Amino acid sequence: MLSVALFAVLSTLAAASPAKVNVVRERNNVSPFVSPSGLNLTYSSKYNSSLPNVVIMATGGTIAGSGAGAASSGVYSAGAIGVEALIQAVPDMLNISNIYGYQIANVGSPSINSTIQLAIAKAANAILCAPGSVTDGVVVTHGTDTLEETAFFLDLTVNCGKPVVIVGAMRPATAYSADGPANLLQAVTAAASPLSKDRGALITMNDRVGSAWYTQKTHVNYLDTFKAPEPGYLGGFFNNELFYYNSPATPTFKKTFNVNNLTSLPRVDIVYGQQEFDGRLLEAALAFGDVKGLVIASPNGGVGADAAIARVAGRIPVVRHVRINVGMIAPSERVPTGNATISSGLVNNQKSRIQLMLALGTGADPRETFEEPLRSILYGK
Ligand code: ASP
Repeated sequence: MLSVALFAVLSTLAAASPAKVNVVRERNNVSPFVSPSGLNLTYSSKYNSSLPNVVIMATGGTIAGSGAGAASSGVYSAGAIGVEALIQAVPDMLNISNIYGYQIANVGSPSINSTIQLAIAKAANAILCAPGSVTDGVVVTHGTDTLEETAFFLDLTVNCGKPVVIVGAMRPATAYSADGPANLLQAVTAAASPLSKDRGALITMNDRVGSAWYTQKTHVNYLDTFKAPEPGYLGGFFNNELFYYNSPATPTFKKTFNVNNLTSLPRVDIVYGQQEFDGRLLEAALAFGDVKGLVIASPNGGVGADAAIARVAGRIPVVRHVRINVGMIAPSERVPTGNATISSGLVNNQKSRIQLMLALGTGADPRETFEEPLRSILYGK
């Protein structure tokens, strides 16, 4: 709940288009948002001054998916329903918060790219973090397949303590037992709650709240898919009431990046290692010319192509994680054949790709970005 009379002074609110806008608007009984070009306000609830303010940025995915019938839970079109319909399907949200909806994109999550991620991060920073902002939280609706990548991206790039909650659904809106409406209600509940402050970006799905830094999708079909295999959940919902197990904390190995002046990020790809891997795909990736970094998802102990890896790692940064996608990779100097590559530590393959793109895009040293926290936490150096 907020008492300030003026709505946020949102400066340089950049969206998918490079257009920059200034938004200064007095709070009254209509939406405090104007509709800046490139970030179209598509829905606003009736303003209630006693409630917090939450902005929903919709990007598509199954939560906005439509199937041929209620029995179609696995075959459907993702990103078919707009943000307005998503909000109207959950009228109870309006008892929790004033809701402002933006349609950032309406695509399946494999089509989310760093341009869209930058647009969300910059808009979230402007809406949440600008001085005088009276927005209490941001919710991003997203397809689940790459949800953890955008959630991790936002965790690393939006850091003023206010909640950023990423949510999706495993069943389309048209299916029996669609999980999207309850997930969205819980996401708004989390975004509007002061209990969610200073916990980094959050993923709410299936009655649980997880840290975006740790949480990953673990099953392609089932509702109970978002998990943080070792650290577990931060909290959950009982009867749609939010609770956390512990007071706020920051992931130990987390790095942050300022992307507010960036318009693009360098390309980073992931290469999968297996028996008989000989490094040819690494060389091929390099040959494309636009690949500025690589992640290798390798068997633990290396992929058995040390010479090829060293050659490629001499040209562009190559981060090494494991194809199991969970676990700790020691700093490179502790790995006999690992010196050429950069150790990912605990950051899984797809999140390592995001972190390497952010490091390269912001001019941070890639090796230090990944390995400095490892050295200081594991070895006190
Ligand atoms: N393919 C969909 C997507 O990631 C799946 C989902 O949302 O669950 O957009």
